[in-house]
Amino acid sequence: MKKNIAILPGDGIGQEIMPHAVKALHVIAEKYNHHFEFHEVEVGGAAFEKYGSHFPEQTKKICEQADAVLFGSVGGPVSEAHLPKWKNCERNSILALRKTLNLSMNLRPASVYPALAASCPLKDHVIKNGIDLLIVRELLGDIYFGEHKRWHQDNISFASDVAEYNEKQISSIAHRAFQLAKLRRGKLTSVDKANVLETSKLWREVVSHIALDYPDVIFENMLVDNCAMQLVIDPAQFDVILTANLFGDILSDLAAALPGSLGLMPSASLNENGFGLYEPSGGSAPDIAGKNKANPIGQILSAALLLRYSFGFYEEADAIEMAVQGALRSHYRTADIYHEGLQLVTTEQMASAIIERIL
Ligand code: NAD
Repeated sequence: MKKNIAILPGDGIGQEIMPHAVKALHVIAEKYNHHFEFHEVEVGGAAFEKYGSHFPEQTKKICEQADAVLFGSVGGPVSEAHLPKWKNCERNSILALRKTLNLSMNLRPASVYPALAASCPLKDHVIKNGIDLLIVRELLGDIYFGEHKRWHQDNISFASDVAEYNEKQISSIAHRAFQLAKLRRGKLTSVDKANVLETSKLWREVVSHIALDYPDVIFENMLVDNCAMQLVIDPAQFDVILTANLFGDILSDLAAALPGSLGLMPSASLNENGFGLYEPSGGSAPDIAGKNKANPIGQILSAALLLRYSFGFYEEADAIEMAVQGALRSHYRTADIYHEGLQLVTTEQMASAIIERIL
């Protein structure tokens, strides 16, 4: 089957790990008789250097024409965030992409593979029941897209950010999250701050009402502060966590740390028709960029999610995920997940170990 895939490596380690994910897709195409066309374009700092914009028209066009987008990461060292190349880089590229492509839902799986139990920062008795959860985060509403304001009064600086949701946005993502819960272990936890925030009160009303349509899904509401604590003391209780944009941003980074490294987990951002952008959970990691040390697994697993969610290629996605687990079972470890007694490998060696196993 012929498919067009837009490839946006971005900055930092994105440039190093993306070629391995593309190679994995090439191998899948060959093995399963598909025809993938790859269109690589710049985004973030790399695009700014070439076009003076973090999200140039050319990149936008390629993404709009593609069947799916595979994204690396953008941004530079935090200490250089004031330079034009990096200033508002994430906001100008990622937020713009989400808006342009109408990506209203973010999926972030977090699981601890048995072979990686030692890399999980939690104690054995906490992880003994297994960790396998999915955070479903609303992406186009909330405080990121409301009015951002600064003003001065009586020699004092003020700032405000407006958070807003409407009933339709909430019900659309809630239905999709309940459907995902039905395909998994059948439990959904909706997370909010309904004891304080008006947007959360609306969120809770709408989601609780929709829960009545899914009697086979175990449903609960939880306050976000409690959820943060529960994710650390008893993550096995969660299956699907549904939450708003800001809480999802924070909780999904917490959950991404459970497998042991930000470099391990993929994520998917989808629109209502299943069109998606796929990227690893971590950022551009300027501290290790260019050193052949970055973990390519999150990027390669993002390619697996792309095959599953955008193209419906389940067997092909499983093949990539099994190859990753196989490489881990064979004790290959990049520096971020390395322990004594295992085999320390570079980005390239880890990627080759995975690709050999796909073949
Ligand atoms: P980061 O995720 O880039 O790095 C945090 C830590 O995780 C670092 O120690 C890094 O080395 C490690 N890490 C991340 N990915 C890894 C991988 N694949 N292999 C091994 N280790 C990995 O977060 P940060 O340092 O706060 O931000 C750096 C830059 O990335 C900033 O400019 C930030 O704006 C940007 N950022 C971009 C995205 C994105 O593109 N989606 C997301 C988060 C941060």
